[in-house]
Amino acid sequence: MANLMTDKYLDNNKQYAGGQAPHKPVYPGKQPINPAKHVAVLACMDARIDVEDLLGLQTGDAHIIRNAGGVVTDDAIRCLIISHHLLNTNEIILIHHTRCGMLAFTDDLLKAGLEGDPAAETLLGQATGRAFTSCGKCASTPSAFHAFRGAIEPLDAPRDEKNMERLAWDVRRGMSSILNHPWLPTSGPDAVTVRGFIYDVDTGKLEEVRYPGPMGSFG
Ligand SMILES: [Zn+2]
Repeated sequence: MANLMTDKYLDNNKQYAGGQAPHKPVYPGKQPINPAKHVAVLACMDARIDVEDLLGLQTGDAHIIRNAGGVVTDDAIRCLIISHHLLNTNEIILIHHTRCGMLAFTDDLLKAGLEGDPAAETLLGQATGRAFTSCGKCASTPSAFHAFRGAIEPLDAPRDEKNMERLAWDVRRGMSSILNHPWLPTSGPDAVTVRGFIYDVDTGKLEEVRYPGPMGSFG
């Protein structure tokens, strides 16, 4: 999908992965509310990711939306609609990443652990290296944790073909949710563009996810 600026950010990312600092962490002074580069980025909250640094974005350039996984949730869609229609962004970038914690559990496992299932408590404790303490209570929200589809693996496992595939599946699911949303136009004069990437936290490099492609299956 063609767009104006994302290729420039990919050039910035090559510099960043090479040890340079394209993002300038200085107070820029008074700026307009609309993002100067008309771009909105949705990325995982992982502590190893600094979105402005890795894309070479400056303060005021972009909306940065983050959650666990960089998942296109209801709230991410809400932000993207406001970003586009009210604050004039027209380019969306999705960033998932290697070693993501969302590969290491399932929604059912986490819910069972929180509610008090001893087996789930044990499994989650082993997965995270932190004693998992059940709350012993049920709750109706959040209705989903959006753990990634497929067979779970140990926390912080290095990249391999299978987990890269699982990450790509979820990037594509997010792209599909955006591309098919009635309030996020992807054709016509007010169109937004969407591109999706996997960021390698070991190398600092972005890799683009091909779309369309497989959305995945339960493994
Ligand atoms: Zn993550």
